[in-house]
Amino acid sequence: MDDIERAVEIISRSEYVIAFTGAGVSAESGIPTFRDKGGLWERFPAETFGVPSGLLGLLFYQPSRLSEFIKAVVEVIERAKPNKGHIALAELEKLGILKCVITQNIDYLHQEAGNKEVIEVHGSITRLRCIICRERKTIEKKKAIEMALEFAEKIKSIDLSSIIEKGEITLEEIKEKFGGSLPVCDYCGGIMRPDIVFFTEPVQDLDIAIEKARRSDCCIIAGTSGVVYPAAYIPQIVKMNKGTLIEINPNSQCFPSDIYISDSFANAMEAIARKIKEKVIN
Ligand SMILES: [Zn+2]
Repeated sequence: MDDIERAVEIISRSEYVIAFTGAGVSAESGIPTFRDKGGLWERFPAETFGVPSGLLGLLFYQPSRLSEFIKAVVEVIERAKPNKGHIALAELEKLGILKCVITQNIDYLHQEAGNKEVIEVHGSITRLRCIICRERKTIEKKKAIEMALEFAEKIKSIDLSSIIEKGEITLEEIKEKFGGSLPVCDYCGGIMRPDIVFFTEPVQDLDIAIEKARRSDCCIIAGTSGVVYPAAYIPQIVKMNKGTLIEINPNSQCFPSDIYISDSFANAMEAIARKIKEKVIN
C-alpha cells in the first residue's frame, strides 16, 4: 500500500478529520510565500512591512513604498484561483468527511473552492476591523481588493507634512485627509483596518481552532513548515490525543507525522479525494 492509499484508509475510518494549511497551498495557486527565497520579504523587509508600527511609519514617511507593497500583495491575491488541492478539500467537506479547515492563509481560496467551515487564524482579506471598538465587518473579496488598490493609489498623493510637523493626528484629520479611501465603522465611526494578523499581533480564533483540534482524530497538514506559532501547535494537539497526522509537503517532513506524502498539495489531495469518492460510491 502506498502513502496515498494509507492516507485514504485512515481518512475514511476517522470520525473527525480536520485540515491545517499554510502558505505552501497558496503558493501552488500563484501566491508566492513571503518568507522563502524570492518571496515578498526580500523586497519588503518583514521588520518594517510585517509590523503595524512599521506600516504606519511608511504611510507618513515613505507612502510610495507602502503603496508598492500593498499593490504587490493585492495583485497576486487578485490573480490567484483555488487549485486542485483546495477543490479536493471542499469535496471532502461536502461528503461530510472533512469537518473544517484551519488555515494560516488570508487569501480566501479555501472558501472560493467551496469550503464552508474555515478558521482563519491569521485573519482574512475579506474582513475589516474597527481600530476603536474592534467590530468586524465582512466584505466581498473583490470589494476588498478594490479598496486596497484605491488606498494604495490615494496615499501616493496625500500631503501629510503638516501632520508630521505637528506630531499627532486626530480621527477627524485622518478622515479629512484620506476621504472615502478609508472605510469607517458603522457603530462608532472609527477607522476600519484590514482584519489581518501582522507580526507582533495575536492570532485569531485560536480557541475555536484548538477546540476542533481536540475533537480531531486525523489532521491533514499541507503547505506549512510549522515554524509559525502558536498556529503550528494545532497538529501537535491532534497528535497528543492519539490522532493521526497526514502531512503533505513537496520539500521536507516538518511534523511528527504518521504518513508523510512528498508531493504537491494539488496532486496529493486530488488523488486522495478521488480514491475516497470511489470508496464512498462503491
Ligand atoms: Zn467601531
